[in-house]
Amino acid sequence: MKILLLGSGGREHALAWKIAQSPKTEKLYIAPGNAGTSAVGENVNIKATDFSTLKAFALENSIDMIVVGPEDPLVQGIFDSFKEDESTRHIAIIGPTAKGAQLEGSKEFAKEFMQRHNIPTARYKSVTAQTLNEGLAFLETLEAPYVLKADGLCAGKGVLILPTLEEAQKELKEMLGGMFGDASATVVIEEFLSGIECSVFVLTDSRNYKVLPVAKDYKRIGEGDKGLNTGGMGSVTPVPFADDEFMEKVRTRIIEPTINGLLEENILYKGFIFLGLINVKGEPMVIEYNVRMGDPETESVMLRIQSDIVELFEGVHQMNLDTKSLILDPRTAACVMLVSGGYPESYEKGKVMTGLEQAAQTDSILFHAGTALKDGNIVTNGGRVIAVCSYGDTKEEALAKSYKVADMIDFEKKYFRRDIGFDL
Ligand code: ATP
Repeated sequence: MKILLLGSGGREHALAWKIAQSPKTEKLYIAPGNAGTSAVGENVNIKATDFSTLKAFALENSIDMIVVGPEDPLVQGIFDSFKEDESTRHIAIIGPTAKGAQLEGSKEFAKEFMQRHNIPTARYKSVTAQTLNEGLAFLETLEAPYVLKADGLCAGKGVLILPTLEEAQKELKEMLGGMFGDASATVVIEEFLSGIECSVFVLTDSRNYKVLPVAKDYKRIGEGDKGLNTGGMGSVTPVPFADDEFMEKVRTRIIEPTINGLLEENILYKGFIFLGLINVKGEPMVIEYNVRMGDPETESVMLRIQSDIVELFEGVHQMNLDTKSLILDPRTAACVMLVSGGYPESYEKGKVMTGLEQAAQTDSILFHAGTALKDGNIVTNGGRVIAVCSYGDTKEEALAKSYKVADMIDFEKKYFRRDIGFDL
């Protein structure tokens, strides 16, 4: 099978690594990819949202399947675009329709969907500039802190958590006034939930589903989960509190109502559903839906999938996922992200990386996030640079291995958190 994977981060390197292991993979292309993906497939310089160029490439190269890494192409309707065109209709797209992608593309849509299907989530109100006064009044009914979310995609920056009512009311006005452009023309105001979060990944063919390993990611730049939000500084799977009892609640109260709800609403959904959950005193509640895998959770989750992922994807496309088996590695997998000093604010790129050959001799697995090849050297090319992932019989063992390798790799102003998994 000829497969085209879209995206360029650590998530895509991990997916590419897993796809390349399948005996079914005859050829793997990654658009646009990074220095790491070029070691397991062939990078092609096409943007993941440039549908017309992707279609031409897919036809020229007899692509059978497209696996979509990031959310943008999904929200912009890549599935629909390929299905509308007779010449590209036969290509399997692993990802939802544009309507399904609204679960991530519009927080208001996601909240209304959850309300329609009785899926546990925080109490909320959705407002626009016309209904600002209702929003200000709703805030008064909540207790601090206050959660304001821009409705549309903001690359992970559209959520504000504010300590006082005054600040929340002021920020609400600013958001509706265009703080995030069109993305915050509608704002979802939410009740704050207290608890520990985890990421549950589901692969569905629209009817059947498989639950992939549950992971926990670490979003803040600083140790103890302090400081600015980042794309993610590390991840661990499994998550001890996501035990059988918790996961049974997740299945019956969240996963099945979500899949049945999509079916009832005639929303075709063949791809990943990422449930951002919070454990509120043993009860799972949904913080958010994403319509693709998470980064850096994918980097540890892929390590724990023993089954052939391409066969699972075939099951998604053919809508017979129930006939495919999902075998998981019982070990722990931990991922530590090395980032450029200064990230998530300004940072420099183009720093030569050393120690990669030595790191490759260990049994840790490196997934490139922001790297590039320059004059024969691998150099930094982003905020998040490389994910160091390891197996262990325990969380401690997996992390110790990743930290050993994290110390081996060097580049100017390298930074990483030394406390990944601290709260598990
Ligand atoms: P990302 O793109 O980083 O996944 P996002 O911008 O789509 O995030 P959310 O995941 O909805 O936004 O919110 C970001 C973070 O804010 C959550 O991971 C969670 O820590 C916190 N958060 C969001 N909603 C709530 C809530 N109702 N109560 C408590 N914390 C919340």
